Amino acid sequence: MYRQADVSTQAPNPLPTPVTRLAPSPTGALHLGNARTFLANWALARQRGWRIVLRIEDLDTPRVKHDAASGILGTLRWLGLDWDDGPFVQSSDLEPYREAMRSLAGGGLVYPSSHTRSEVEDAAAGLAASAPQEGSHESPFPRALRPPLAVRAFDDPACNWRFATPDGGTTFDDLFAGRCSFRLADSIGDFIVWTKRACPAYQLAVVVDDHRQGVTHVVRGDDLLDSAARQLLLYRALGPWPEPAHAHLPLVIGADGRRLAKRHGDTRLETYRSAGVPPEAVVGLVAFWCGIRADRATCSLAEFRAAFKLDSIPRRPIVFRQEDHQWLLSRCAR
Ligand code: GLU
Repeated sequence: MYRQADVSTQAPNPLPTPVTRLAPSPTGALHLGNARTFLANWALARQRGWRIVLRIEDLDTPRVKHDAASGILGTLRWLGLDWDDGPFVQSSDLEPYREAMRSLAGGGLVYPSSHTRSEVEDAAAGLAASAPQEGSHESPFPRALRPPLAVRAFDDPACNWRFATPDGGTTFDDLFAGRCSFRLADSIGDFIVWTKRACPAYQLAVVVDDHRQGVTHVVRGDDLLDSAARQLLLYRALGPWPEPAHAHLPLVIGADGRRLAKRHGDTRLETYRSAGVPPEAVVGLVAFWCGIRADRATCSLAEFRAAFKLDSIPRRPIVFRQEDHQWLLSRCAR
């Protein structure tokens, strides 16, 4: 007869289960670029036995759209993706982020900063690396604006707070991009970890959540490579906490070289879905983009999962073309 094992005599589990996360922002509907990232992340997890956490990153409140989260869940399910834990919704409890801020403030590593964006831009004018990157909402913060560092209480959550970026390089080995090095003090400077909306900034929220949700593997677009460096600084300042491995994948861009967006037409997955395009067509296009199919052809999720290889993804951005769009529409069930 089956007997439950006596836990006390079992050898301890040598390694905890690896965990990854799908972390959509409900700032709009998912588009083909998101489909590429989520399919790649999901396939890696299912091939390698990682647990998948679904996390809704809804703290960028000015950009959050009502109903986007439920739309995103519906789209992920339509693609056939599943997850093991969540959805966790960041805005449901801000206390863990406040706690992290108390720890950083108590270590003298953050400070309140009421500088306006134009003050920061004016002070940065003339500095070499002062142009904000495309898609970045933050200007580089000149060191001259940093007050003397001191142990503080986290007592003014209605102010922006910045992390005092240390001098020197931050280096990590990305599973896809290889060795990456950033000198953040020279480029980004002291970055915002808490916003005057009384809400954590993305950089802090992602670290607190990845840590408490046990995330060991982060897979996402390479527009977040320098964010990984900022986040590693926070892992070290907060613990040190164990650092996750990263795989940053080239973005999907339009023929004009800019990241996929509305200007390239309507590439929302929901639009294809309502037009009658089957999910296997989207998966097939992503399989072609990821270098596991020589041509565009429909592909089941099971086939994608079996064939996906990180190394097959081209090392340059994937260009979304009108032919891709036309091909998807030509797959509509008639
Ligand atoms: N929520 C972010 C996004 O949708 C992803 C952040 C991350 O993967 O760290 O772009």
